[in-house]
Order: sequence, then C-alpha cells, then structure tokens
Amino acid sequence: MRMSKLFVQTLREFPSDAEVISHKLLARAGYIRKLTSGVYNFLPLMWRVLKKVENIVREEMDAAGAQELLMPFVQPQELWEESGRWNAYGKELMRLKDRHDRVMCLGPTHEEVITSIARDGLKSYKQLPVNLYQIQSKFRDEVRPRYGLLRGREFIMKDAYSFHTTQECLNKEYENMAQAYTKIFNRCGLETKMVQSDSGAIGGSVSHEFMVITDGDAGENDVFYCNSCDYSANSNHAISKLPPVNTVGKWGKSEIIDTPDTHSIEELCEFLHIEPTIILKSLLYIADKKPVLAIIRADKNVEETKLMNAVGATDIRIASPAEIDEVMQLSGFDAERGFIGPNGLKDVKIIGDETIKDLKNFVVGINQKDKHMVGANFGSDVQMPEIVSDIRLVEAGELCPICGKPLFVTKGIEVGNIFQLGTKYSKPMNAVYTDVDGKTKPYIMGCYGIGITRTAAAAVEAHNDENGIKWPIAIAPYHAIVIPVSVQSEEQMTIAEDIYKKLLAAGIEAVIDDRDERAGVKFKDADLIGFPFRITVGKTITDGVVEFKNRQTGVMENLTPDMAIEKIVSEVNNVIK
Ligand code: ATP
Ligand code: MG
Repeated sequence: MRMSKLFVQTLREFPSDAEVISHKLLARAGYIRKLTSGVYNFLPLMWRVLKKVENIVREEMDAAGAQELLMPFVQPQELWEESGRWNAYGKELMRLKDRHDRVMCLGPTHEEVITSIARDGLKSYKQLPVNLYQIQSKFRDEVRPRYGLLRGREFIMKDAYSFHTTQECLNKEYENMAQAYTKIFNRCGLETKMVQSDSGAIGGSVSHEFMVITDGDAGENDVFYCNSCDYSANSNHAISKLPPVNTVGKWGKSEIIDTPDTHSIEELCEFLHIEPTIILKSLLYIADKKPVLAIIRADKNVEETKLMNAVGATDIRIASPAEIDEVMQLSGFDAERGFIGPNGLKDVKIIGDETIKDLKNFVVGINQKDKHMVGANFGSDVQMPEIVSDIRLVEAGELCPICGKPLFVTKGIEVGNIFQLGTKYSKPMNAVYTDVDGKTKPYIMGCYGIGITRTAAAAVEAHNDENGIKWPIAIAPYHAIVIPVSVQSEEQMTIAEDIYKKLLAAGIEAVIDDRDERAGVKFKDADLIGFPFRITVGKTITDGVVEFKNRQTGVMENLTPDMAIEKIVSEVNNVIK
C-alpha cells in the first residue's frame, strides 16, 4: 500500500468527546469515525485490525471444535417471549416494527435464535455435543455508550453456544473454551485474567470473565484477587471474609434518643462517639420500579448487582429524595435520608446483608427525623428480614474467601466471558432431544462471548505511548512502513521501493510513505498509526545502511536493507504461523 493512496486522515487533535486513550488514538490516527452516539465507522485501517482479531478468534474456535454459522441480526418478538426475555431484557433491547406492524428487535445476543435452531435440528443424543458460533454486529441500546469502541451500541461480537446431554460434558466444553480464550487473547497480544463473575441478563449459574488488567480509566470493572491463591472475581460477584470487629453496642436497653442533623453515618458516629460497626444502615433502592430497603452493617457498602439478584429484579438504582418522601408518606412517616429504618414500612421488601447477623445493642433509624433507636436488637426491636444474603461490596484488604490472605483490587476491561447456562433457555423454549433411554430432555447449554471491537480497543489501551499506538504484530493493520526521507532523492526512492517490494514478496504487509512531506510529519504519522516496524531510507544510504525502528521497544539500529528486511520477516513469522 502506498501512503499517498491509503484512505487515512490523521487528526491534529483528539476528538472532544474522547475520554480514554484507545478512543482518542483510534479517532486521531484515522481508524474510526463516529456516525452517531455509540455507532462508529470502521475505516480501512480499523477494518484490517478487526479482521485480524476475527481470524485469530476463528482459528482458535475452529481448532477447539466449534463450527461457524451466521444468524440474522433482526429477530422476532415471539422468540423472545418464549424465553421470557422480551420483558426481562429492558431498554438495552432495541425494538422496532416492520411495515406489517410485526414487532422485532435488533440482536443484542442470540441465545433465543440458536436455541430455536438447535430445537429444529438436534433431535437425538447422538448429535450432541455441538458448539456453534458466529461473528457478527450486535446492537445494544446502552444507557451510557462511551469510551469509543469499548462500550458502543453497535459492536462486533463472537458468540458461541454449546449443547450437551450432561453437566459433565458442559464442564468439559467450558474448560475447552476457557483454554481457547486464553490462546486467543495471548495471540492478540493481551494478557488476561479469568475471573468469576455475575451472570447478569444472560442468566445461568457459573460464569467467568476474561479481563485485561489496566490502570487507565477504561477499566469499568473492579477485579478483586488474591496473591496467595488463584481466587479472583469481579466486584459484582466477589466475596470475602471480614476481619473481626466489635459489633456490640454499649447500651443495656433499647431507647429512642435525639440525634439532630445526623444525615450521614459519619455524622451519627461523631454525635454518638461510636464506630459504624454497631450501626444498622438502611438504604432505599428502586428495583424493577418497586421500593426495596437494603440493611447492612454501616461500615460496609451494598453491591447493587448482588442486591438485584437477591431481590430477583433486572434493574436497580438508589431511590431519589422524592421517592424516599413517597415511601415515607405511604407508611405515615416524614423522615428523610439518614433516619430511615426497617420498622413500619408499608409495601417495601427488606433485604438484609449477612453482616447484620452479628449486630447486638445496635443503632438504627426509626423513620423519625432527628431520632435514632440505640441498644436495639433483632427480635425484640427490629424484625430479622426474611431474606438475608450476601449483598456486600467487597473492599481491598478484606480476606480471601479461599485462603484468608488479604485481597487486592485492580481495574479490568472485560473482553470476553463464558457462561454455563444449563437449561435456562432450552426449558422454557421446549428445546429437547431424545436421550439413550428414549426420554426427551432439554439441552444443557453453555455460551461464550468475545467482544471483537472491544478486544481491539483494549489492545490499544494496553499498548500505547505519548506518540501513538504500539500494535502487537498479530493485529496491526500493517506490519511495516518504509519511509524515504526525501522523495526528491532518486537514490532514496529507488532503494525504498526496492525494500518495499522485497517486503511484499516475503509476505510482509507493508506501506511505503511516498508522500512529498517532511520526514518529521511521516515519522509522527507512522508512530501515531502504530506500525510495528519502520525502515527509514535517508542520507546514510550512501553508506549502505537504513534506520530500523521497532515501535514496541523503541530500539533503533542502523542496518543494511537486507538485514532490516530479514529482521522484520523473522519477527513477523515468529508471531504469525
Ligand atoms: P458488559 O458487562 O461490559 O456490559 P456484558 O456482560 O453485557 O458486558 P456479554 O453480553 O457477555 O457482555 O457480551 C460478550 C462480550 O461482548 C463482552 O465480553 C464484551 O467483550 C463485548 N461487549 C458487550 N457489550 C459491549 C458493548 N456495549 N460494546 C462493545 N463490546 C461489548
Ligand atoms: Mg452489558
């Protein structure tokens, strides 16, 4: 490819809406252009990168025994009614009508479609197990599309689905996919951590996410991990042991006392000269439009996904002051934030965290402004809620649930995940096969996703410097660029063209920068776009040497043209089989 012909327009500035480095660099280096919120054009350079990621995914999925197919992007409502997700999926599902008023949606994921395919074709145990996958654009009307390709509305995903007769068989495939994923991300130049996670809208019980660990802002997930054993989990799923603390208050009997203006736990602690470990904190949430009160020991915080799962809801958020007022009025109280408590609330589901079990003689809000009860106990003063489960947000320094050593926390970008679905889709959709014993049974299923576009963006997050992108060789749009310093110099041009041709002949994806630009401009563009290797043909060519630069290491060397070519060929062949 000739730089003069390459369809790329680099920008002087980062786009104003770009918050994270991958978005900034991909936009500035001419890889992507935004069409509308969360929807991007993948320009030629980007498309080359994406095809490379796709092909790595394809090769490893095929090698792992999966078969590729392609399902429709538009899906009918009825199928989603069958699984029960038409209502459950919420606003991320982009719904539309055709000219006959038939309701459809844009595929955010394909469990329903694949289950209907299996139901039609996989009738006997003899045909199982099967793993089917596709690579396709998905659409999710995300609440907050942001970070460029990391969280788009339209994005490319590899989604695979497996069908089994037994849990053991699913376990085996789950492990097989975990291994394939590790290979895929390694080949893409990414180190990943496989962490336990919540199953979310997809459903199922066991699931893991593959996280690219990052110290940038782009890591939307908190990952808790142990250095002494291999425990690691997304914060939405992490559990921990707590070091012992005092959970018994100093009061001998319960009484209601004045606690003026104590709207926060800190203010209450200061006023009563106590630690938060003897306070019962009450937080009002709205889960699927209904009020839910979460109660927890006050030195700890609620993890919203855990709370949502405990309630069995699909959507959750903290209540607004107006919603708190409404709940108070309905129950005949007038308290505001800071004074809420579990007693006497009408039509409010109460969920307790495990930490409340140890509380004795504690402090609790009683829905009266400027008052609290002290010396309270479950049973006599406050009813123990029917549901008590772990809804606590883990914090760094708490203890590993497996080995008891302190946990650490880091940020991660989720590039892929694997789920054990069990019969979550096959049962309601009546997707069954006939087993050896002649009985019909629902398939036991697994599903496995990889964000193709997100993986490419995560690679930029992991590999960049102040000058631009440092693509891993395997997914770089081109391997090398040849830069003649002066296109006016016949000697430089002849040698540059010769090197360029030899690179192409050796199977290297090369670009020659034949533009009549200053050398500085060409170098800047080469670094910004992120070619892994650069050969510069300048004045030193009279001594028979060119300058060779490795973008990843930054090392520059003077080599003969043939040595430089050989170096690139061997480096590229090392990575690409
Ligand atoms: P997240 O928690 O980040 O929203 P998810 O759990 O909804 O992800 P899945 O439904 O399992 O993700 O999708 C599989 C993969 O698709 C994810 O691991 C991720 O790499 C990618 N992905 C999901 N949502 C997006 C998005 N909005 N933009 C880009 N890639 C995405
Ligand atoms: Mg999501």
